[in-house]
Amino acid sequence: MGIISKDISKAVALLNEDLVVAIPTETVYGLAGNIYSEKAVKAIFETKKRPFYNPLIVHIPSTENLESIVSHVPEKARQLANAFWPGPLTLVLPKQEHIPDLITAGKDTVAVRVPNHPTTLQLLSQLPFPLAAPSANPFSSISPTTAQHVESYFQHKIKMVLDGGPCKNGIESTIIGFENDAPIIYRLGSIALEDIEAVVGNIPIKNKSETPEGNKTKSHPEAPGMLDKHYAPATMTILSNNISEDLKKYYGKRIGVITFQNSIENSRILHQILLSKTGNMAEATSKLYDALHQLDSLNLDIIIAEIFPDYGLGKSINDRLKRAAHDS
Ligand code: AMP
Ligand code: MG
Repeated sequence: MGIISKDISKAVALLNEDLVVAIPTETVYGLAGNIYSEKAVKAIFETKKRPFYNPLIVHIPSTENLESIVSHVPEKARQLANAFWPGPLTLVLPKQEHIPDLITAGKDTVAVRVPNHPTTLQLLSQLPFPLAAPSANPFSSISPTTAQHVESYFQHKIKMVLDGGPCKNGIESTIIGFENDAPIIYRLGSIALEDIEAVVGNIPIKNKSETPEGNKTKSHPEAPGMLDKHYAPATMTILSNNISEDLKKYYGKRIGVITFQNSIENSRILHQILLSKTGNMAEATSKLYDALHQLDSLNLDIIIAEIFPDYGLGKSINDRLKRAAHDS
């Protein structure tokens, strides 16, 4: 018997016993546990091999629960929550005292969101506690967008993956923090920057100030989701504006290619994945990680990914592709 199941009451029972359960969201699958259970939260970190300096996102069933988690909600945070929750937006706000340090990596802020997935909203409404749920992948590897991805990562380590089908959005949430009540993007994600700016006006993107090495020596990194190497396949991955030209550099290699809208005719390509025939960025985003998972399983020498137009979700995709390619 596999660990994949659609049984919400079973997930409720396991979570009430301080165990971890992988859950579906609209962004990626999460590895979830009771935020108030030290046992569950430690198990999340251990299962993922995630360093304790990397804080977790708290998932709540409704915007009404926000004040029980955070101590201050700036006006623009309220506007963003009203516009995007339930949805792929994470807000980082001053925490209530009772939020455990393990969740926030000792910071006085906490990351929180209301996910937009019917199964997980139902699950959250049946639990007496919120869920901490980082992505259900080993630290630094590609995030899972299907129950099968999670199973292949963790089948011997967790008891259950709650199956909610493939994730609709397919990359992580957009994370927004506040400095003197003004919003700032900590991580690009499932919501196009332009859509956020339509609600709160121009918004700066936090510079990546840390390297993975730098972060290890800091106990309180600003935004650890900004680690350069993150979301990475094991196969060497490079980005390209001109794949036909770049193919010439890799003569004799086993090559996989990811393109946005147009496929490439070239016999040197062993396997090619086209993300959206119609050039739809949302469709491309939802398929991106599955494409990386597929190519990574083919024992290739190299993955060449096409750089996206740098607007809308293309900006978020480019951010993830850069991290997939960094140093690999
Ligand atoms: P994941 O759940 O794996 O998508 O990652 C959660 C990310 O949320 C972390 O890597 C951080 O970038 C971010 N995060 C969580 N809590 C905080 C916080 N208190 N301050 C800044 N960033 C946070
Ligand atoms: Mg993650």
